[in-house]
Amino acid sequence: MNREFLKKASLLLLLVLPTLALAQAEEEDKPENYDSWNHMAQNIALVCAALGLLIALGYFIKLTTTKGSKDKYDFINKYEISTLWVAVIFIIISGCFFANSGITHLTPVLIGVRVFVSAAMALIVSVIVQNLLKFYYPFYIEKRLKALRYQPRISPKTGKPMKLLSEEEEDVYLDEGMQAEENAFSVDYDVWIDEESKYVQIEKYAGHLHALQCPECNYQTFKIAKEEVLKPSTDTEDGERLVHYQCGYCGYKAKKLEVIRKRSPNNKAEHSAATA
Ligand SMILES: [Zn+2]
Repeated sequence: MNREFLKKASLLLLLVLPTLALAQAEEEDKPENYDSWNHMAQNIALVCAALGLLIALGYFIKLTTTKGSKDKYDFINKYEISTLWVAVIFIIISGCFFANSGITHLTPVLIGVRVFVSAAMALIVSVIVQNLLKFYYPFYIEKRLKALRYQPRISPKTGKPMKLLSEEEEDVYLDEGMQAEENAFSVDYDVWIDEESKYVQIEKYAGHLHALQCPECNYQTFKIAKEEVLKPSTDTEDGERLVHYQCGYCGYKAKKLEVIRKRSPNNKAEHSAATA
């Protein structure tokens, strides 16, 4: 777990302990009935837990019923982390109400303590989960995305697996605009071909969605923030683009100057010139 989290957690602990001690010292019992509150808290807990589970379940049902590896890829990329996060928030709220649904006696101080402890626990759990989702989970997602991207596509014409063309082979199937896009920006077109029927399927993958490992903090949170074409390539001359990267976790920034190959045959190989 990272340092920021440990700091927050220990700070909370320091605040919680004295409050607990204070509460112990001042316990006076009035036999009262808290049934209606307990019932309400239990119901809220149940509803929130159900909502959280439904959101997560709904996501996975939608994912499994999504046809086609490319659609699955886009769906995971777009929704998985944010959906899981919302589901977890509902579960945490549910936990808070559940923990406070068996009340037998209460004083003003105890109310304060319960509210405070619940909020503190909720915060600790949500920080842990947020860390997992934002900084560890992407490693797992990345693996699944890679598998989806390179899973052989099935031809709708013949029902047979298609072949993924190499960067050199695919140019024939990409129009001028696509080639220019691939050359100028971190966009990748994958071309799948059914060799029997010559059926072609083209898929677009955007570089800015794809997170790399940050050289500074090592989380899988290093993304393309911006790309500038400094000099477009021509038929006879190489061009240049400047790719700005930024880490979503530690904020580390880097610029990379990349060569845009001139538009002569076999112009695909790219190589990086400098890192700053
Ligand atoms: Zn970083």
